[in-house]
Amino acid sequence: MTLQVQARVSLKPFNSFGIDVRARLFAEAHNDTDVREALAYAAVQALPLLVIGGGSNLLLTQDIDALVLRMASHGIRVLQDDGVHVVVEAEAGEAWHPFVLWTLAQGFSGLENLSLIPGTVGAAPMQNIGAYGVEIKDVFAGLTALDRHTGELRDFSLAECNFAYRDSLFKHEVGRWLILRVRFALSRAVHLKLEYGPVQQRLAEHGIAQATPSDVSRAICSIRSEKLPDPAVLGNAGSFFKNPLVSQALAAELQLQYPDLVAYPQSDGQMKLAAGWLIDKAGWKGFRDGDAGVHRLQALVLVNYGAATGQDIAGLALRIQQDIEKRFKVVLEMEPNRY
Ligand code: FAD
Ligand code: NAP
Repeated sequence: MTLQVQARVSLKPFNSFGIDVRARLFAEAHNDTDVREALAYAAVQALPLLVIGGGSNLLLTQDIDALVLRMASHGIRVLQDDGVHVVVEAEAGEAWHPFVLWTLAQGFSGLENLSLIPGTVGAAPMQNIGAYGVEIKDVFAGLTALDRHTGELRDFSLAECNFAYRDSLFKHEVGRWLILRVRFALSRAVHLKLEYGPVQQRLAEHGIAQATPSDVSRAICSIRSEKLPDPAVLGNAGSFFKNPLVSQALAAELQLQYPDLVAYPQSDGQMKLAAGWLIDKAGWKGFRDGDAGVHRLQALVLVNYGAATGQDIAGLALRIQQDIEKRFKVVLEMEPNRY
């Protein structure tokens, strides 16, 4: 066996909240063989297997009584290129943002709006990562996953992934699919998506009238760096709650009471409210209880000032959820995966 398995490993360096819980067993998978060995090893030990990538969308609330397998597989390849349309495949353990920069350096556009999202390629389909008006479903060309129930490999098409807002089939069939590699349909032709106000504004500030995909990427990196705490400095998992989808009737009722309510109409007739606006309006921005807090610049981001436990963060999240429901009749759903 080539897989290196360690016992009682602190997961603090492996989750962006910086929460110090231990994994009963821990290993890194560099290729498909390692993944299969890890599954067999966990079965022999009668332990579950928890796969992680960069740990940037996790809330760890207790020691993990499992074999934690961190995906560390690498490799990027161009599978198809007709001069305009390109299909690129990347291994699950590739870090997302460097992968985005690699595509841009090749002259391939499509991923620029998803710049500077932490984590790995393999986790990106889990919640159909999205930012600034683009989700990976918009550039998705397929993925290969290992069915942990049968040990077989399966290729998924776009339709089979059931992608939705911060959601996919993989989030629902928990523990079944281990994503090994993901394919993206990119283009040498440029079709920028610039509907989100801050992106247009930042390009204008930089005096850029005809933006390239790399210009958009740089603009988004600069906006994100100003607004979001760097997990290396202040533990966090990005947006802690999903933006809630509510009925038009409720949005209209709230708008009467709060004329500055931030709400975006959706194609299915619902309204998307900005969860950060609701939390800010309720007075939580900058709140701190011990080492668990709400970021002072971005109310949607819960932070760990150092020694917060996952339970501390979960407790704060619950208080916020209850308060938001009481004030606005809106139920906030947690975005990170809780273990
Ligand atoms: P992890 O946190 O390690 O895992 C997340 C989930 O996926 C877990 O349930 C895990 O079991 C599962 N998983 C991981 N890898 C695999 C695999 N190979 N196969 C099967 N299951 C797997 N998200 C957005 O959508 N948009 C954003 O703009 C955004 N901004 C962020 C900003 C900051 C500062 C932070 C800290 C987070 C942000 N996130 C954002 C959330 C996070 O970066 C993404 O969800 C990212 O895709 C998580 O990747 P990861 O490798 O860290 O996954
Ligand atoms: P923002 O610009 O302050 O806007 C607040 C919310 O309004 C966003 O979450 C966004 O929803 C929505 N919104 C803004 N402009 C919109 C438009 N033109 N059409 C439809 N919806 C619009 O948001 P932010 O917090 O700084 O984040 C910027 C982008 O990065 C967002 O897309 C956000 O999702 C993403 N982001 C995600 C995470 C995460 O962990 N999931 C963390 C940081 C940033 P959407 O969220 O649906 O886009």
